[in-house]
Amino acid sequence: MREPFDPELPVSRLPGVGPRREAGLSRLGVRTLRDALFLFPRRYEDRRRLTPLEELQEGKPALFRGRVGELSSQRSQGKHRVRGLLSDPTGCLRLLWFHRPGVAAQLPPGTEAVFWGRPARFGDDLVCVNPEFWAGSVPQGEEWGRIVPVYPGTEGLPPRWLRSFLLSQVERCAPQIPEELPESLIRRRGLLPLKEAVRQLHAPDDEVRWREARRRLAYQELLELQVPFALRRRAAASLPPPVLRCEKGVSERFWADLPFDPTPGQREALRALEADLGGRHPMNRLLQGDVGSGKTLVALGALHLVLRGGAQGAYLAPTEILARQVWEVARRLPALAPFPVDLVLGGRSLREREEQAEVLERPEPRLVVGTHALLEDSVRFSRLGLAVIDEQHRFGVAQRAALAAKGRSPHLLVMTATPIPRTLSLALFGDLSSLALRDLPPGRSPVVTRVLGQKDLRRVLAFLRQELARGGRAFWVCPLVEESEGTGLPGAMQRREALARALPESCPEVVHGRLDGAAKAAALERFRSGESRLLVGTTVLEVGIDVPEATVMVVEHGERFGLSQLHQLRGRVGRGSSRGVCLLLSGTEEEDSLRRLRILERTGDGFRIAEADCALRGGGEMGGVRQHGDSGFKVADLRVDAALLEQARQDAQDWVDAEPALDSCPLFRKRLEERYPDVFRLLAGA
Ligand code: ADP
Ligand code: MG
Repeated sequence: MREPFDPELPVSRLPGVGPRREAGLSRLGVRTLRDALFLFPRRYEDRRRLTPLEELQEGKPALFRGRVGELSSQRSQGKHRVRGLLSDPTGCLRLLWFHRPGVAAQLPPGTEAVFWGRPARFGDDLVCVNPEFWAGSVPQGEEWGRIVPVYPGTEGLPPRWLRSFLLSQVERCAPQIPEELPESLIRRRGLLPLKEAVRQLHAPDDEVRWREARRRLAYQELLELQVPFALRRRAAASLPPPVLRCEKGVSERFWADLPFDPTPGQREALRALEADLGGRHPMNRLLQGDVGSGKTLVALGALHLVLRGGAQGAYLAPTEILARQVWEVARRLPALAPFPVDLVLGGRSLREREEQAEVLERPEPRLVVGTHALLEDSVRFSRLGLAVIDEQHRFGVAQRAALAAKGRSPHLLVMTATPIPRTLSLALFGDLSSLALRDLPPGRSPVVTRVLGQKDLRRVLAFLRQELARGGRAFWVCPLVEESEGTGLPGAMQRREALARALPESCPEVVHGRLDGAAKAAALERFRSGESRLLVGTTVLEVGIDVPEATVMVVEHGERFGLSQLHQLRGRVGRGSSRGVCLLLSGTEEEDSLRRLRILERTGDGFRIAEADCALRGGGEMGGVRQHGDSGFKVADLRVDAALLEQARQDAQDWVDAEPALDSCPLFRKRLEERYPDVFRLLAGA
């Protein structure tokens, strides 16, 4: 008898899963039966057709059959090799196995067997190295005669076991997977039923069906994001905004007090925010702007409006360094002089927290700048008017919601570190309306960028020595905090030591995520003051550090970073009057990788770099599914699914308008409720 389908069944209760397999599955994020059914292949191998030996091509994986001639085993210098010759009526092929001493016994001369492998060319011969094979009467089912899925690998899970396990679960359960989407949407978009899509993704009949399955699952994934966005927009539209006493022309007065003129973009952005802050609903804005475009001041301008209006403001920054920096700027702004500005960091004592809480209870206008510590329960605002989140990519949607929950429907301003393409911004910030700063403050010249190799380290040092002699200051970014065995990647700590020997006059400092806040702040301060003129670090240097005297940015193993991230990093230099230089050291000579990095040599436009970055990642072929870049999707791929995203967005809006409680799809609703409790609290309260 068939057992009833329970998607929440722990995998440990399934046949063949002991503690070791359970741990392996858990590393892949698979804990329940549903997780298993939704663990999709990374790629596929088309093992449907046998290829005659004479048609085998170099570099092209193929399934082939033949009779094994003599096999010879050899051992030299600790290496074990088995060589053989395979033949069929059309030709023959050399076989070679390394480190597989058992092969000889499995394939005695004269055996007929089926092989899967990728022939390579050695001189005139085609040779297949370490092919998989099935001798005798191996069941075809999972291993050949079909398009075979290849799953992500991890220790403790032999690939064949995982494949066989997943395919048997899919076979057993897929027909029972209930539909999770509304019938109307399935019809409108011509989607495969969920059970069919899951089956086709694991065991595709052909490429056409696979594409349909992928589209269905990508759509669902996008919809699961867009429905909460639609719900949030709906909730926000039903809430009253914070009460602000509005004066006319306050934003102009903010600029008037500064030592420089705002850029046209800054002036326009603040005007738009001013209009929003006087609107009938809480503001939900995304401010996009290239590195150095001056987003901080726009945010402080908006906070100033709110403080003048009698409410409180919060500014959430991703790191202590950045929080301190913003706090310093805010404290010195003449326009903010009438208002207290606090700094809230982690590691405060209970007493400090209590005092803080008490201060915030008072209904007087004040600005609080801080890190994640702002999200702690002890921080409560009596009159939060505007919450600003800087460098949104460092925070999740949940943290945004947690900050907003510190007040009664406060206005919200979210800022990105660098621009992001429209599709990505719709996907990630679908509940926000977007605002862009398109210009940079005057006098900035683009950072001169050069792609070099890791082997050019010496030239880089010579260049640095010159720059330092001229009074310059430099950043040096490493991919890791600490060199780790075997990766061959430089660590910031070791690099600092090496640089201290090579350039002692620079007194290098190091900052990375493992230092405590005070140590980081001290290192940065020594760099800021000029006592140290070389700051070595990891990507903590990426976020917002503003030291106008810095002119050089060196990034080791640039290929390991996203283009937007590198653009963000180089945005740290050339902020003062001298031009900035960025040296990207590539750890590989691969053409594609170098071509990618060279985009940064050619353009300084963050909006274009973001587009290029997005376009370059991943592939559109029947390449399986996997996490895509920043967006964290399992199936959807924004480079090919832009149209699907627009559809999901539209459908989400229509659905939520027609049925805000999503009653017709309890399964879908339940999953969203688990993932976004804040949305449903909002709706319940609305
Ligand atoms: P980002 O948009 O990357 O967060 P910031 O807000 O950190 O950029 O601004 C970068 C630098 O530009 C800061 O030193 C800031 O004081 C300066 N700045 C901002 N606006 C202007 C302006 N209109 N004119 C000159 N300098 C400006
Ligand atoms: Mg910034």
